[in-house]
Amino acid sequence: MTDQQGGCLGGALRFATTGNPDWVTVCHCRFCQRATGGAYMVEPIFKKSVFRIIKGTPKVFSQVSQGSGKIVQVHFCPECGTKLHLSFERYPDVVGVYAGTFDDPDWFEIEPGKTQHIFLGVARPDTIIPPGFPTFVEHATTNTGDRCAPTTYDTPYMIANR
Ligand SMILES: [Zn+2]
Ligand SMILES: [Zn+2]
Repeated sequence: MTDQQGGCLGGALRFATTGNPDWVTVCHCRFCQRATGGAYMVEPIFKKSVFRIIKGTPKVFSQVSQGSGKIVQVHFCPECGTKLHLSFERYPDVVGVYAGTFDDPDWFEIEPGKTQHIFLGVARPDTIIPPGFPTFVEHATTNTGDRCAPTTYDTPYMIANR
């Protein structure tokens, strides 16, 4: 089941995806904490070719990422303020969707081979990381595109233990 839809709180914006996410990032960074108002963002990453807005026109807020120095764009509803997705100067071919905006937010798999937890260095102390997932203190890749070495825990890991 890959064709999915989602939308904002008020219903003015709707989007559709016609493929599975390439991978899922669970991001604990301060940008995502502030943008979601929560502890972290669950962010399935889709190729732009399988994501489209089917109703309304999002407003775009651009900010330079402190980590990469590249622009990150937040696409949100001008009426109700819900954030739908992110696009990236650094990764121009993909979007990251705010997972909770899907009509069925649980439709895609969160599995260790396709999911990574990033920015554990600033995660809330009460956050518990499930075992088996690759984790990173900051980004998973360097600015030059090299992959950083992940840490994987065998048992649930509480951030306060860092
Ligand atoms: Zn983030
Ligand atoms: Zn809205």
